[in-house]
Amino acid sequence: MTITIGFIGLGNMGGPMAANLAKAGFDVTATDLSIGAVDRAVEAGCKRGETVAAAVKDADVVVSMLPAGAHVKSVYTDDYGVIANARPGALFIDSSTIDVESARAVSAAAVGKGFAMVDAPVSGGVAAATGGTLTFMVGGEAASFERARPVLEAMGKNIFHAGAAGNGQVAKIANNMLLGVTMIATCEAFNLAEKLGLDAQTFFDISSTASGQSWSMTSYCPAPGPVPAAPSNRDYQPGFAAGMMLKDMRLAQEAAHQAKAATPLGAQAEALYALMEAAGRDDLDFSGIMKLIKGAL
Ligand code: NAD
Repeated sequence: MTITIGFIGLGNMGGPMAANLAKAGFDVTATDLSIGAVDRAVEAGCKRGETVAAAVKDADVVVSMLPAGAHVKSVYTDDYGVIANARPGALFIDSSTIDVESARAVSAAAVGKGFAMVDAPVSGGVAAATGGTLTFMVGGEAASFERARPVLEAMGKNIFHAGAAGNGQVAKIANNMLLGVTMIATCEAFNLAEKLGLDAQTFFDISSTASGQSWSMTSYCPAPGPVPAAPSNRDYQPGFAAGMMLKDMRLAQEAAHQAKAATPLGAQAEALYALMEAAGRDDLDFSGIMKLIKGAL
């Protein structure tokens, strides 16, 4: 029997994700505050959902892809929202990147009313959403994860169960904090080498096979030249915008304060990406932090 899906949030990521679900044969009813976004989803094979309540009322599975925790809380817990209007026993999948506390609170509210819920934030940008190659990091009960799997497989390539509710968000922000920090350290190292007379390619050849190696260097080198596909070769056009990295760094710091986890480098990295925002250049790729390090932003 065809699985019916209510999809909420048809932006840069949610639009192509909903389209991939329709393409895979799911019966998708899609909704967004933007009529234009719903029109595009209908063109891609979804049914029109006039409201959240209408989109979820017959759904076996609800998928949401919203900007931040406040949107997720309101879409799920308000009177017009998902919990008040979904079919008994439905499964909810929230793929938005949000704070751990909101993810756990919304999940508890849903589970308390007899629904199943997983947080399933993604790694990979619009290209991965379009190509159906996202990575999903999933938090929630094992049985809910198994129910979510076929839906996630239609939108992604790698699907990980990270543990209990909220742990998908934990995996996402801990990973992105690490990425943000290694990117800045990589920029500093390339800049230092260059200032001391060592060219980027030679330093790359040495360091990428030595102990300073990281994904930030080998797949996304912030110095132009060594990795041709990296944004550094197109004047730091994203890719993954510094503003979005800053959002994730802020979520990591918020969670670190709550958990009393010491993250001094994460805090410093957040402050540096905030300087890109203050300079009005958070539209650049996050590896464009090289420009800040060089004093050339
Ligand atoms: P976006 O702003 O393009 O889309 C969000 C959509 O949600 C918008 O279309 C908006 O109208 C809709 N929306 C907001 N409130 C709503 C409501 N009450 N009811 C219905 N629709 C509502 O954002 P995006 O780039 O698609 O990102 C979505 C999430 O994915 C964010 O949490 C982001 O951090 C995360 N993410 C984005 C990327 C990326 O590269 N864009 C990568 C990984 C993760």
